[in-house]
Amino acid sequence: MLRNPHDALWYNSITREAVDTGAIESSAMSRGKGCWVQDASGTWYLDARAAMWNTTLGYDAERVVEAMTGQLRRLPVAQIIRYEEPSDVALEYARRLVDTLPDPLNHVRFGSTGSQMTTAAVLLSRFVRKVAGQTDRTKVIAFTNGYHGTGGIAGALTGERQMHALQAPLVPDVHHVKPWNLEALAKTVERHGPEHITAIIVEPVMGTDVLAAPDGALRHIRDLCDRHGIHLIADEVTTGFGRTGAMSVMADNRVLPDLLVLGKGITSGYFPLAALVCTDALFDEAISRPEYVFPHGCTADGHPVGMAAGLAVLDELADGSLFGHVRAVGEHLRQRLREHAATTALIHDVRGAGLMIGVELRDGDERPGAASMAEVRRACQEAGLLLTTTNSTLVLMPPLVLTETEADELVKRLVGA
Ligand code: PLP
Repeated sequence: MLRNPHDALWYNSITREAVDTGAIESSAMSRGKGCWVQDASGTWYLDARAAMWNTTLGYDAERVVEAMTGQLRRLPVAQIIRYEEPSDVALEYARRLVDTLPDPLNHVRFGSTGSQMTTAAVLLSRFVRKVAGQTDRTKVIAFTNGYHGTGGIAGALTGERQMHALQAPLVPDVHHVKPWNLEALAKTVERHGPEHITAIIVEPVMGTDVLAAPDGALRHIRDLCDRHGIHLIADEVTTGFGRTGAMSVMADNRVLPDLLVLGKGITSGYFPLAALVCTDALFDEAISRPEYVFPHGCTADGHPVGMAAGLAVLDELADGSLFGHVRAVGEHLRQRLREHAATTALIHDVRGAGLMIGVELRDGDERPGAASMAEVRRACQEAGLLLTTTNSTLVLMPPLVLTETEADELVKRLVGA
């Protein structure tokens, strides 16, 4: 028997206070339209977190809904991990997806979450080493404060302290360096011995605190990897599918990874789908050899409804106009935020790319800290604005269909809060 009916759903985001006061009932979200969501009490919010940074096309992308419902009626379930019977829609989507990426990123497998696919990226990198007889190449280097998901390997890659502490002991081969400190990265590679390192994983724009790779850094890391035969894994779960105004930040910078992880915007969040793309070289070295079986795959991989949603999203992005829109509205939003920053000592920095924007706060020289940021978030919610925060940064990632008028409204609500 439940002691408290509100306790059935158990997440850190559901606070004791909200449960005890019953506030959780009225703040539960019940409908969405465009960039807006409405809670059960009838209040509309401008959603500057795009659900969980994933609903790139907003809450009423009719083309995606149509594709998914059509697929549900035609073939609602299929499997992809055993025997030769993938769905037709999985075959079609795989071809369409790799078609949007540059050569040699030509081979894709699917999963349900970013965490599953960052995990698969590390496993695939190590699998390639195993096939090559390089059994000593096991280590992975990631960035402190990077986010690559949760659960075992993904959680160990994640450099966020609490999450890492729980999961890292399970995966002792993951090591972290300070983001974008290229000297420290080179030294870490030397210290561990390049011949022991299988991969380096980066987010080209880190979602936590919105830290973009400085100019030339991605190329520098690519060169470092090439010099030492290390695989470069690009985690574009957040940045992919138009978030920064491009299909892929890596491709846009003409720096290609060996392994590319995609998620979130891949279906505009309408279906839990993520993808791992690898190069022809990795495919030829290990995967295409029948004597070796890559030991990874889950029941829902390549789910036909997700494939149909993915195809519809590609259709939406096909003419590139949304990418141009994101760059223009993102620039407008940053400009408006900078104008406001000039009037207050609280805002330390406004940064980002496209509609992936960080507003870093400072209280004197101090970072505000988690408790103050929670207060800021609550004040924004009361002003009808949803956003994510880290210890010192407001993270703005609205749906990509945000209009200029809505961008102005976002700033108005933020300033009011
Ligand atoms: N990688 C990055 C860059 C992310 O931002 C996230 C989620 O926020 C993940 C991986 C994990 O994705 P998921 O939550 O779908 O497991």
